[in-house]
Amino acid sequence: MSLAVWTLSGLADAQVAEPDDPIARLLRGGAAADKLPTAPAAPIPRPQTAGPSLGPTPGQTLNVSPGNAVPGAAPGASPAGPPPVVMSARIGEHEDSTRIVLELSDPLNLRAFTLTNPDRVVVDMPEVSWRLGAPPLPSSHGSVKSYRYGLFREGNSRMVIDLNRPVRVADPLVLPPSAGFGYRVVIDMYPAEQEKFDTYAGWPADLKQRESAAEKLAMTGPTASGGKKVVVIDPGHGGIDSGTNGVNGLMEKDMVLAEGLRLAQDLKARGYAVHMTRDRDVFIPLPERVAIARKWKADLMISLHCDSNPDSSVNGLSIYTLNDGRSDREAAALAKRENQSDVIAGVDLSGGNTPVAPILIDLAQRDTINRSSRFAQTALTRLADATDILQRSPHRSASLAVLVAPDVPAVLIELGYLSNESDAAQMNRDQWRGGVARAIADSVDRNFAPQPAPGQTAAVPAPKFPSP
Ligand SMILES: [Zn+2]
Repeated sequence: MSLAVWTLSGLADAQVAEPDDPIARLLRGGAAADKLPTAPAAPIPRPQTAGPSLGPTPGQTLNVSPGNAVPGAAPGASPAGPPPVVMSARIGEHEDSTRIVLELSDPLNLRAFTLTNPDRVVVDMPEVSWRLGAPPLPSSHGSVKSYRYGLFREGNSRMVIDLNRPVRVADPLVLPPSAGFGYRVVIDMYPAEQEKFDTYAGWPADLKQRESAAEKLAMTGPTASGGKKVVVIDPGHGGIDSGTNGVNGLMEKDMVLAEGLRLAQDLKARGYAVHMTRDRDVFIPLPERVAIARKWKADLMISLHCDSNPDSSVNGLSIYTLNDGRSDREAAALAKRENQSDVIAGVDLSGGNTPVAPILIDLAQRDTINRSSRFAQTALTRLADATDILQRSPHRSASLAVLVAPDVPAVLIELGYLSNESDAAQMNRDQWRGGVARAIADSVDRNFAPQPAPGQTAAVPAPKFPSP
């Protein structure tokens, strides 16, 4: 699940001790962008060094006249060498504006745009490496509610800012290094009418094109699996969307990636054709995950997640299959959290299918869902030997956007609760991870084992965990 971002405490302390440096002066420097030091009209040329530097050398000056500017790396461009570093971020909140200043090792092409429902500002940039020691917390009275940052796509990093109120966002300005600080990016936001905000919100056209191309690409391509059963493993979240943060600091996106890689290895060794929706710390939109499973004509898709609950005593593993939205309240709440992934990462859902819309299920898909449910039952029986199982109805169904492929049986396994101390601790243990991966792989074996011929049927035990 979910959006664990910076909460709104501790700001007062941070502001009291505000230093007096070029960034602090920028933050105090009032609202209007035209009062800033001269900003280059075009991206600043990259410094003539082999890799990114951690700030300019003392006394270094750069000629930033537009005449000698060369294009900086654009989002999506493949970077040469290690990515630039974001060294700090600060927020300045004023009555009539909010200013965010990022400090960078290298100049970049950035662009900002807005999205509605919920209202957000997205700052897109080429892939960068984030080294923010203690990211600043917004106060509760400014325009910024919370924010997050990370990899959106290969070669494309992103900052997503959740808003308390609609804003107009100015084009980001890049300032040259000064006084021991690196390149600074200034992003100004001014209060705006909701109607205006709604009018201008949405992904820029080229970005829309690129994303729909990526989804189509995920749909096409080779599918030969050499007669092997095909399993697609889908580690949830990733990149800018970290999922749940554990009580022990373990992040959902890291845990499920590690477990997914382990499961993939185990299944490959057992002779399956295995594909992963992601094998690194990168964000993948939910529809694209579905497209990947369909492209490979998967016989089974296993999505891996970790849960959280305000009641820290709740623990254990549970498995979800798809339904058409008629979930019980808890399952519906979980679907809402997991379906948020695209919102968290700044995907434009306007005009497209929103992942929380009711899912229409036809007869063909009913068969797929039945097969998903059978796998869920098998897996719960095996997994009960490897870990704690959620006490009340561990097999649930919900309207989960990642499970909607009509032709791919799919389950979403919530491996345990990162909000529970003992679950979170064991999810960090190698032995537990190995045991759970093995139990899932055993379930896959069992699922695809040849069915006994009619007449040979042994007594089939009643399922230990009733279907929802
Ligand atoms: Zn999740």
